[in-house]
Amino acid sequence: MTTESSTPTVHEAMARFRASLLRRASGVAWAIVAIIGAQAVRTEVYDETVFYIPMVGLILLLVLSTIARWDRIVASPWAPVVVTAWMLLLIGSVTALGSIPELAGTAEPVLYGLAAISGLLLVWWAHALVTVSIATAIGYLALTLGEVDALPQVIAPVFTVLVVAAATALAGFELEREMIVSATRERTLEDQRLDFQRLYEVSATLARAESLAEIVPYLVGTICRYLDAEVGAVLLYDGGLNKLKVMSPIWVNGGTVDAEEAMVDITGVNVIAQSYRAIRPIHVRRVDENSDAHLVLKDLGLTQAIVAPLKVEAMRVGVIVVGEPRRGDFTEDQIEDLGSLAAPAGLVLSQIGRYEAQAEMARRLEEVAQMKTDFVSTVSHELRSPLTSIIGSLDTVTRPELAPTEPTSQQLLQSARRQASRLQRLIEDLLVVSRIDRGAIPVHLETISLKEIFDEVNRVVPVEATISVDPPDAQVEADRDHLTRVLINLVENAYKYAPGSPVEIHGSELLNRIRIAVVDHGPGIPEDQRDRVFERFTQLDQSDTRSRGGTGLGLSIVKSLVEVMHGSVRIEETEGGGATFVVELPKGR
Ligand code: ADP
Repeated sequence: MTTESSTPTVHEAMARFRASLLRRASGVAWAIVAIIGAQAVRTEVYDETVFYIPMVGLILLLVLSTIARWDRIVASPWAPVVVTAWMLLLIGSVTALGSIPELAGTAEPVLYGLAAISGLLLVWWAHALVTVSIATAIGYLALTLGEVDALPQVIAPVFTVLVVAAATALAGFELEREMIVSATRERTLEDQRLDFQRLYEVSATLARAESLAEIVPYLVGTICRYLDAEVGAVLLYDGGLNKLKVMSPIWVNGGTVDAEEAMVDITGVNVIAQSYRAIRPIHVRRVDENSDAHLVLKDLGLTQAIVAPLKVEAMRVGVIVVGEPRRGDFTEDQIEDLGSLAAPAGLVLSQIGRYEAQAEMARRLEEVAQMKTDFVSTVSHELRSPLTSIIGSLDTVTRPELAPTEPTSQQLLQSARRQASRLQRLIEDLLVVSRIDRGAIPVHLETISLKEIFDEVNRVVPVEATISVDPPDAQVEADRDHLTRVLINLVENAYKYAPGSPVEIHGSELLNRIRIAVVDHGPGIPEDQRDRVFERFTQLDQSDTRSRGGTGLGLSIVKSLVEVMHGSVRIEETEGGGATFVVELPKGR
């Protein structure tokens, strides 16, 4: 796409060619003057008036043509007139010199030469004029110098001049045609290069752009520059309000200006709403101060505008307004062009609008998640102190010396103590979860003896069956507190969900990893549920779990803690039935 036609380049190329021809012709003319001068001296005609007046004129003409800025002259609209005048003066002075019999032999070829280059230098009418003048001059010289009755002596040179002139006219015409072809080809290539460059620039900007506020002025600016307009704005459809909203900032003369908040009802008479419902752009030649239909255009400070609908297939996205043409009124071509440009613009704006809405949604979700984490953390902290005090009081009143003697009261106190412990576990779990969410879990990785860890676990939740470590001095790289917590959790679960079955813990080395397996022989976990149980608040059988006092947080904490220690956890089937929780961690160094 280009606003320039191919003519100026051809014009420029022809002008360059003609200027160089004229410069060369001037150089050759100096040589001819020198020859004529020498001839005049030799034949001693130099002191005659018929010689020196035209000679002085010729020299002046050549001085002028030597210093003349031919490149400028031939590029101007006056070129044919100036060059024709120059040639006529040249023909005049050369003919005058040629009328001296001693100089005729030198002057004549100069006239033929002028006839030859005239076709390359001048447009057809000027060339015709020059040819007639040269033919006349040649005829005149033949008549004055030859025998009066020898007509063939006149016809032959005149005919030669005409033939030469016709040949150069043809050559000139051919040259111009060739130049048009090559210049058009060159221009097409250049246009394509520019189009690609523009396309690249637009795509690069679009790829970088993340918000409508960033992309709208750029896109509108590109379109305004293309249409040679000073102001551009976009109104996008807001589905929530069912209105078209002016996007700020608007594009004004290469810069941006914040737009005032403005809405347009899509069903109204406003030309913006009409365009939104229309298929083709609407041209408002004069914005009418008093017309309701022109309200927004008036607010944008426009006196003339084109308004085009922005659509993506059948979906209407908004409208684009381009106003204030730099030259005269908007033309039919410009209106048509805005219609074509509105399609890709609509696509870009709708894509970025969608992206922006998604980004906004993601931001809000993140905010909500953060609020939830903060809330859980605050509430858990607030609950912890009163609960510690309740547990303390319950422990005190259940001491043998203070405990009530009545069995019902004793039972109630024991139940209260159990529930308080359950609550305490829940609160502890919630605190760990909120720390995990905030990424605020402290991790102190160290090389620890696996046996030491197993002994600690066995102290807290005695493991009645096998505990094995192979080799016995196997070491793991882990956070002592986190690993202990993970294993206690898994062993407690095994007791909870596989009551009566022996629980085993096996530690073994596996290349550069340590594999810890907590094995039970209970009901196990169905294969399709094995990933799910690591999700928060997942309990496989709610009623059963409830009776066992679960929260559904334990395994999610296990997974998070193992992962912060650069390990992994998974569930396998125990041979003969049951669940085997496998934790893998880096080997100690
Ligand atoms: P909960 O607080 O309910 O124990 P967990 O996250 O620790 O929460 O466990 C999630 C669910 O996984 C439990 O509700 C239970 O259904 C199942 N589960 C956990 N450990 C075992 C196990 N050793 N055997 C069978 N099911 C288990």
